[in-house]
Amino acid sequence: MILSNRVLNMDESVTLAAAARAKALKEKGDDILSLTLGEPDFPTPKNIQNAAISSIKNGKASFYTVTSGLPELKEAIAGYFAKYYGYTIKQNQVTVATGAKFSLYTFFMSVINPGDEAIIPTPCWVSYGDQIKMAEGVPVFVQTTEANHFKVTVEQLDAVRSAKTKVLVLNSPSNPTGMIYTAKELLAIGNWAVEHDILILADDIYGRLVYNGNEFTPISSLSEAICKQTIVINGVSKSYSMTGWRLGYAVGDSEIIAAMSKIAGQTTSNPTAASQYAAIEALKGPQDTVETMRQAFEERLNTIYPLLAEVPGFKVVKPQGAFYLFPNVKKAMGMKGYTDVTEFTTAILEEVGVALVTGAGFGAPENVRLSYATDLDTLKEAIRRLHQFMEEL
Ligand code: PMP
Ligand code: GLU
Repeated sequence: MILSNRVLNMDESVTLAAAARAKALKEKGDDILSLTLGEPDFPTPKNIQNAAISSIKNGKASFYTVTSGLPELKEAIAGYFAKYYGYTIKQNQVTVATGAKFSLYTFFMSVINPGDEAIIPTPCWVSYGDQIKMAEGVPVFVQTTEANHFKVTVEQLDAVRSAKTKVLVLNSPSNPTGMIYTAKELLAIGNWAVEHDILILADDIYGRLVYNGNEFTPISSLSEAICKQTIVINGVSKSYSMTGWRLGYAVGDSEIIAAMSKIAGQTTSNPTAASQYAAIEALKGPQDTVETMRQAFEERLNTIYPLLAEVPGFKVVKPQGAFYLFPNVKKAMGMKGYTDVTEFTTAILEEVGVALVTGAGFGAPENVRLSYATDLDTLKEAIRRLHQFMEEL
């Protein structure tokens, strides 16, 4: 079989691959603790489940919807923006998709021409680079530093800017580092993008998951000019524990939004109707379950961060949001005789049954990612096993 160069040149999603591997070993009967996937471990709140069930029972979910999403859902998203972003949006500035991941894909496919460059500060989530490559664009990775809390600076951005720079990808709170940009930092970056006519792709999917008094500022809320330059990606997966429902959305310039819907119209059509009814309830219904889940993540972070920091050779910056820890394991690898972080991650899985994600897919060859979207007992036992792994020298 001769496969396309497109697929031959792309990497598999390392997050999904690590999760699938852990699941297969578990099903085989191995004692595996999986800290791989960024997926809340809570059931979707009951009121949201019930909204979907009603839409199935009353027949509303039986049919195609408008490709870009139900008008009631767009209205709910507009209400959400008025409340959490502080500005108003029109219906033609919203398009709903099969997960935020597909929103991102249609965005890159809509704005990138062959050879166009998209700047991505690293460490970054695993799918941006490959989606840009699928759109025949060039991902330009900019390495941030631990010393600057994994945040990119305007000077770094300017150093890689070229006549072909079309997009800047920003993800705050960040997967995998959990870092959050301040309003001041975002304003500087936003003004730089406006000055050079670079589109900002703001992946705000972890915006509600912030801890210990830290705050999330949406870059699009900082000025009218920055807002015009920004496409916001968001969704219900993380804040409402709805990963399986596959419902994300994009908000921004109506011409880009229409282009994104056009691509969806020739690929997925509308996202599942029942999921859209569920999302309306998620966004418009009571928000107390979001806060309960947020508090659970905060407690887990505050409990396991100091424990992880004590594992020999692990160096970790305390995250402010999302649900990942991203320790630097360079010293730990040296202590165990490894130079490759993926091999190191595999050894941890094979020797003590703890499944992590290699930093390699995030552009971070000295780090591993642990998701703390799992219960505290599992997390504590996983860290005990990491100690055991490191102490068996
Ligand atoms: N962006 C980031 C940074 C993510 O971590 C994820 C996780 N899947 C997504 C987008 C996509 O979310 P979903 O497709 O589940 O809406
Ligand atoms: N975003 C989550 C993660 O990073 C889910 C998997 C994925 O889509 O990458 O684990």
